[in-house]
Amino acid sequence: MARYTGPVCRLCRREGVKLYLKGDKCFTDKCPLTRRAYPPGQHGQGRRKLSEYGVQLREKQKARRTYGIMEGQFSRYFGKASAKKGVTGELLLQLLERRLDNVVYRLVRHNHFAVNGRRVNIPSFSVKPGDVVEVREASRQKPRFKVMLEAPLRTLPAWLDVQRDQWRGTVVRMPTRDEIDTPVQEQLIIEYYSR
Ligand code: SF4
Repeated sequence: MARYTGPVCRLCRREGVKLYLKGDKCFTDKCPLTRRAYPPGQHGQGRRKLSEYGVQLREKQKARRTYGIMEGQFSRYFGKASAKKGVTGELLLQLLERRLDNVVYRLVRHNHFAVNGRRVNIPSFSVKPGDVVEVREASRQKPRFKVMLEAPLRTLPAWLDVQRDQWRGTVVRMPTRDEIDTPVQEQLIIEYYSR
């Protein structure tokens, strides 16, 4: 599956918000967005007034980059959300939020996981309420996992529950809109794809 492999801090500077793509560095004053809060490139510090289309495009790009998804896949998620009954923007964010790589990132930010006891290595795997995501037995002895187990736990959204002593987390229910803290205005994305 295609993935963006270029410098990620440029993406934050382009969108003008922290997308938290660099792990611990994002929480320190070494974050380039703190030092240079303007878009990258030669004309980054110039004045720019965005058109309506430009505003919608930037919002869509911001959401896409937050979840590390390429354009084609993001557009397929939008198609899936708009084909479902309900509020398209919320459904789109739910689909993005439930990607296994996002859940794993929120739980322990690493690999070597199983869902409901079965090894899953597809990042776009969509978890559902009741699913149990755990570190596989064979991976638990690795030094990096021991370090992670001892590290302070970051705040988790209420739709996830973590049982540290059992090396696992559970998807308690579907995330509600107010629990998805991704800084995007989904209405602008809908308008972008509705043109
Ligand atoms: Fe973005 Fe700052 Fe993290 Fe780089 S360090 S990815 S600019 S939040």
